[in-house]
Amino acid sequence: MTPRVKNDFPIELTAPDITAYKVGNTGVDYVTTLDSDTPGPHVMVTAAVHGNEICGPIALDYFYQNDLRPRIGKLTLAFCNYEAYLGFDPEDPTVSRYVDEDFNRVWSEETLDGPRQTQELIRAREFRPFVADADLLLDIHSMQKKTDPLMLSGPLPKGRELARGTQVPEIVVSDHGHASGKRMRDYGDFINPNSPKNSLLVECGQHWEKACGPLAIETMLRFLAHTETLSAEDVADHLGPTPPPQRFIEVSGPVTIITDNFRFVEEYQGFEVIEKEGTIIAYDDDKEICTPYDNCVLIMPSRRLGPGGSAVRLGQFIDG
Ligand SMILES: [Zn+2]
Repeated sequence: MTPRVKNDFPIELTAPDITAYKVGNTGVDYVTTLDSDTPGPHVMVTAAVHGNEICGPIALDYFYQNDLRPRIGKLTLAFCNYEAYLGFDPEDPTVSRYVDEDFNRVWSEETLDGPRQTQELIRAREFRPFVADADLLLDIHSMQKKTDPLMLSGPLPKGRELARGTQVPEIVVSDHGHASGKRMRDYGDFINPNSPKNSLLVECGQHWEKACGPLAIETMLRFLAHTETLSAEDVADHLGPTPPPQRFIEVSGPVTIITDNFRFVEEYQGFEVIEKEGTIIAYDDDKEICTPYDNCVLIMPSRRLGPGGSAVRLGQFIDG
């Protein structure tokens, strides 16, 4: 069970019942691959990497309910940490993030091939062949705080390119992940600049806010249309208005927590722009944590402030 954290946010979304998707067609629970029998890429959309995040299951459920099918290539739809997700309780919503450890920090070869046994590693090991085979991945998430949705496009220009093609959300953040372990979106060739394989991780808003579900659906459909898995006609009746131009942020790095006495000087929500270099934003025990440059953007400040974790990411707006 995940350590409980304070929650001030109402539960406006209903977690869909996903048990009908347990027995797919791949031999692995909660993983289904739809084959168009036409040449094309293996595209994958993943949900519930974190069990307390509901918008991804809402998007996959929407895909199934609307009888959509891939036009080219193959499409794999997966509920990743379904065990954690099945434990979601609206009365105690923060504790179902994972069973033993964060599913999205175990994706280095060393960890996957190593001796550790946890629920998440067992699941990651059985799911790994799908991740390794996928050409294009969209991994759907949500956030602790009510900040603007964002696309985490990874460290490479090709990630920004895929985010641009997907068109939503408006803010695209290029980043390198966390010191505490590799994310699924950074597995293998996804972050090889010489490989055409590519991946995105979308953060659709606060975990349980109403707008988070529709944005997950919109992002999934625009991603699938951009990759030509679905046709423009398939998605036309499902999409919102033409989105505004995107804005791009490059992250210089996360602030990795050292001690168990880390605190921010203010309750940051995310996307605050700190004008002056050297402004103190937090203390890690006695150590001052300062902004490293002018106009520093704070991205996804965390409420889970334990040693080894990322407290916040720091970045700057760039030309896309
Ligand atoms: Zn997540």
